[in-house]
Amino acid sequence: MASSSTHQVPSLIRCQLMTLLKNMGGSEPRLVKAATEQLNKLPFYHSFWNHTTRPSLDLAKELISMFTAREMGKVFFTNSGSEANDSQVKIVWYYNNALGRPKKKNIISRTQSYHGTTFISASLSGLPTLHQDFDLPGRFVLHTDCPHYWRFHLPGETEEEFATRLADNLENLILKQGPETIAAFIAEPVIGAGGVILPPKTYFEKIQAVVKKYDILFIVDEVITGFGRLGTMFGSDLYNIKPDLVSLAKALSSAYAPIGAILVSPEISDVIHSHSNKLGTFAHGFTYSGHPVSCAVALEALKIYRERDIPGHVTHVAQRFQEGIKAFAAGSPIVGETRGVGLLIATEFTDNKSPYELFPFEWGVGEIFGQECKKRGMMVKVLGNLIAMSPPLIITREEIDKLVSIYGEALKATEERVAE
Ligand code: PLP
Repeated sequence: MASSSTHQVPSLIRCQLMTLLKNMGGSEPRLVKAATEQLNKLPFYHSFWNHTTRPSLDLAKELISMFTAREMGKVFFTNSGSEANDSQVKIVWYYNNALGRPKKKNIISRTQSYHGTTFISASLSGLPTLHQDFDLPGRFVLHTDCPHYWRFHLPGETEEEFATRLADNLENLILKQGPETIAAFIAEPVIGAGGVILPPKTYFEKIQAVVKKYDILFIVDEVITGFGRLGTMFGSDLYNIKPDLVSLAKALSSAYAPIGAILVSPEISDVIHSHSNKLGTFAHGFTYSGHPVSCAVALEALKIYRERDIPGHVTHVAQRFQEGIKAFAAGSPIVGETRGVGLLIATEFTDNKSPYELFPFEWGVGEIFGQECKKRGMMVKVLGNLIAMSPPLIITREEIDKLVSIYGEALKATEERVAE
C-alpha cells in the first residue's frame, strides 16, 4: 500500500515534501554511495575517551573551514538539532565554571523562537505550546522580544528604531538580572518554525554589541539556515553574525542520516581543553556522537554543496521565488504579510492586511490553503493561520514557476472559500 501510493505522488509534491531537510532532493546517488561504502568499511565506532574515526575527523575539519563568519576551533557531534542546543548549554556552563564564575548560568532566548524539544532546548524555544503541560521553561532560561517588525513595531517606528528598542530591552533585562548571571544569548538568524521571522535592519549589529558589552556568549542556531537555505552558506554570513558557538543539523547530511554538530570558538575550546586536562574529562556525549556513517554522508553532502555552489544556485533562483509569491500575496485581501529570504518563505493570513485582525482559529484559513495546494500537487507546512514553504535547494527555475503558479491558484481558491 505505502509504496504504491508513493509512486503515484506527482513530482512537484515530492519536491515539496523534501522541504528543509533533503536539500539535495530524495535521490542523490552520491549520498547513498557514501553511506553504503562506510557501512561496508566501518559501520560504527564510539567517540568516547578521545576515540574517533576518519569520517568524523574529516567532517570536523571541513566544517571548521566552511564556517568563515569567524574562526572556529573545535567540533562536537550530536544526533540532532535539539541535542546540539542542549549540549551548547552544558558547554557554556562548563566554560564558566572553568573560569571560576559558576553564577554565570542564565541563557537568554527570544519569544517565538524554536530550538528543539529536549528539556533545555524546549525551554530555550519561545513557543508557549512547547512549554504548557511540561512546566517549562526550566530554570536558567529567560526570554526577550521576538524581532517581528510587522507585528510588534510601534506606530511610526522605523525598522532601525524597532531594532534599537529591542536591543535596549535586552540590555535592560541583562541589567535587571545582573550581567554576572547571564551566560549566553541564543538566536536563529531567521526564526524558522516560529513563523519565518526575519531580523529587522541593524538588529544583529545592535544585539551583538549589547551581548559583547556584558561578556555574554552568542550561540547562533543555524539548524535551518545552515548550508545555503538563505542564499549564503550560513545565516551568519548574511547577517554578519560573529558567534562564539554554532548549532548545526538537518541539511548537514541533507537528511540522509541523523547528525547534528556544534562549532566552538578557539577561546572556548582552549578553556575546556585545559580544564578537562586538569579535572578529568568534559563528561558529556552520546553513543552515536560522530557516528561514522552519518559523518561520511555529511562529508559528501558538504562536498556537493561546495562543488555545485548551492548558495549561488539559491541566490540565482530565489528572486523568482520570492517575487513570484509576493506578487500574488500583495493583491490578496486575506494575506497580512508574506516574508522570506532565499528559499524560505511564509504567508500569514489576516483580515484587511492588518497584523491585529486575526482570522478566528476555527476557520482554519491556513489549513484551507494547504488543502488547495495539495489538490494541485503541492505540499506546504501549515502552522495555524500561517503557511511556510521551503523547497529543496536544487529546485529549478521551471519548478519555481510551477510552484508560484500553484500558490496563486490556491490563494484565489482560499479567498473564495473564506468569503463564503
Ligand atoms: N533548531 C532549529 C532552528 C530548528 O528548526 C530545529 C528543528 O526544526 C531544531 C533546532 C531541533 O532540531 P531536531 O528536530 O533535529 O532536534
